[in-house]
Amino acid sequence: MARYTGSSCRVCRREGEKLFLKGTRCFSDKCAFTRRSYVPGQHGKGRRFKPSNYGIQLREKQKVKKIYGILEKQFRKYFKLAERSKGVTGEKLLEILERRLDNVVFRSCFAYSRAQARQMVRHGLVHVNNRKVNIPSYSTKTGDVIQLKQKDKLVKNVKEIIEKIKDRGVPEWLKEDFEGLKASVTRLPERSDVGMNIKEQLIVELYSK
Ligand code: SF4
Repeated sequence: MARYTGSSCRVCRREGEKLFLKGTRCFSDKCAFTRRSYVPGQHGKGRRFKPSNYGIQLREKQKVKKIYGILEKQFRKYFKLAERSKGVTGEKLLEILERRLDNVVFRSCFAYSRAQARQMVRHGLVHVNNRKVNIPSYSTKTGDVIQLKQKDKLVKNVKEIIEKIKDRGVPEWLKEDFEGLKASVTRLPERSDVGMNIKEQLIVELYSK
């Protein structure tokens, strides 16, 4: 259940792109990457060097881990699982990551960020097929219905969140019901559903060394 507890903005600056780890702040002028788009640290501003192939692959892997809020051990486990599955390893890896329950809650627009979605799951506010599931890494499958607990305060808060972020859209593999605070998994996610700047092949190359 371990997770990264350092500064999220530092991660974006290290990876050289906005990873949207903080919710609304990411879309405001307060975004640290907008204000200081260079690597963190005392000499970050003046640092210019050409990364090696290994460095590029490593950064890509670190980036994906931070996007989904996963540490190395679990990420490697996911990679091994992807390798053993039928299909293209990189795409399978992204499918496994996308199916995580915290990601589904985030993708369904019930939370500003994956970190917030994870907390909602941990606090027992999320039900899968009418049963409480408080494991953020729970792997959803086709036919699963994810619903938030019908607590007045939670319903009010989540409806406010939905109002603010629903324009970002829910991916096609999920069918949302904003009124009922529900989402169902209609099919497994495909590469085209991920919609982020991820070069999964670099991760495969890194782990295949
Ligand atoms: Fe990244 Fe900006 Fe969001 Fe901070 S506020 S996590 S720098 S996108």
